[in-house]
Amino acid sequence: QPTLDTDKEQILHDNLDHTLFSWSKQTGLNPISAERAEGVYLWDRDGKRYIDFSSQLMNVNIGHGDQRITEAVAAQMRELSYVYPGMITKARGDLGRMLNDITPANLTKAFFTLGGAEAIENAVKLARIYTGRHKIVSLYQSFHGASYGAISVGGDPRKFAVDSQAMPGTVHVENPYFYRCPWYSATPEECAQRAAEAMERIIGYENPGSVAAIILEGESGTSGCIKYPPGYWTRIREICDKHGILLIADEVMSGFGRTGKWFGSDHHGVKVDLMCMAKGITAGYLPLGAVMVDEAIAKSFDDKPLPLGLTYSAHPVSCAAAVATLEVYHEDRLLENTVEMGHYLDQQVAELIARHPSIGDWRNTGLFGCLELVKNRQTKEPMAPWNAAPDQMAVMNQVAAKIRELGMYTFVRWNYIFIAPPLCINKKELDEGLAIISEALTIADKHTN
Ligand code: PLP
Repeated sequence: QPTLDTDKEQILHDNLDHTLFSWSKQTGLNPISAERAEGVYLWDRDGKRYIDFSSQLMNVNIGHGDQRITEAVAAQMRELSYVYPGMITKARGDLGRMLNDITPANLTKAFFTLGGAEAIENAVKLARIYTGRHKIVSLYQSFHGASYGAISVGGDPRKFAVDSQAMPGTVHVENPYFYRCPWYSATPEECAQRAAEAMERIIGYENPGSVAAIILEGESGTSGCIKYPPGYWTRIREICDKHGILLIADEVMSGFGRTGKWFGSDHHGVKVDLMCMAKGITAGYLPLGAVMVDEAIAKSFDDKPLPLGLTYSAHPVSCAAAVATLEVYHEDRLLENTVEMGHYLDQQVAELIARHPSIGDWRNTGLFGCLELVKNRQTKEPMAPWNAAPDQMAVMNQVAAKIRELGMYTFVRWNYIFIAPPLCINKKELDEGLAIISEALTIADKHTN
């Protein structure tokens, strides 16, 4: 006989016995059993409170439990919960106009999807159709989603499981990763220059006339917040212009205020032809993604059919959630808060760096930061390597366990600890989180030499 659904053991068993958890071995899992959340905090079913230092998957940008979204969603559902994407709705139009307002002027129209990977799939499709070319160039240390096309475009090792069936036509190049620049470079600018030269060389070898698009994350996310050095985007845009290649910005993680501007690519002042977005568009309250397209691309479908479609494209309730979310960004001045808190975070992390020899590098824009842990600051030997095997994760796993024990949820991957809290965070909450990280870092410090 099933017991009450409030029974935490029952909930745990139903979850573990009858559902699959992403990217994990299914045995030995010990997930947090989440019960409620508000602002920057969430509580588990034992009443333990966690400060959310990665906005879940860098998406709950406005913070948890915002009743303005609940009200907007409920109102939309009462009025009209669904119509097929061939119909007009107020929420869809409002959202299209609001996105047009916050994206660069050349991006005029949005095609709505359910999430980030679908936005990438549709951007790739559009780029290929528009250019009549097929290759997509991207960075090795990048992630663009888990569907077949998106995972193939990304370089993240999560794609190894399906490598043999990857989407054809993807080309990968090295990142302009200044802390570990693959080319000799004394300055970030030099690393950017070398990386762009390497990109252009590879495009030359690949036949520039076959390349439809270059895709870059607006700011690097799950690969470790590998910030683009100054000049990189400008050089990439020049390469695109020279060879008739489109530039796609994947703003799925870096968009919607995360970096203190609406989009990560806004920091680099270059025109992009397509922009993919998801996550922060609804701050996770409902699933939604979009690909915004340049006016010329949009117009190319004035007289021929757009070959894209999804049953839930422009879902009215998701669109209503996004409209309400965008209003929150404006009303609560979240971009301004992100800039201010980002500066404060940088100052406070400087003190952590002084105290903890295990911090090799700190990379942050706004509230999109990663601590990179090393065994030795001179050699930069990572505390756990890229794509670390389980036995190479021993120290980082202890650090992550300590973070959780002390009442924080954040994203810890290989030798990176993410600091990307909801954009509504204040100084006191940042201090509280950093104190937890500091205590956990003492474990890593013991493994430095
Ligand atoms: N693009 C980037 C940069 C991402 O970080 C992610 C997810 O983390 C995606 C795309 C995929 O988005 P989704 O998980 O909504 O499909």
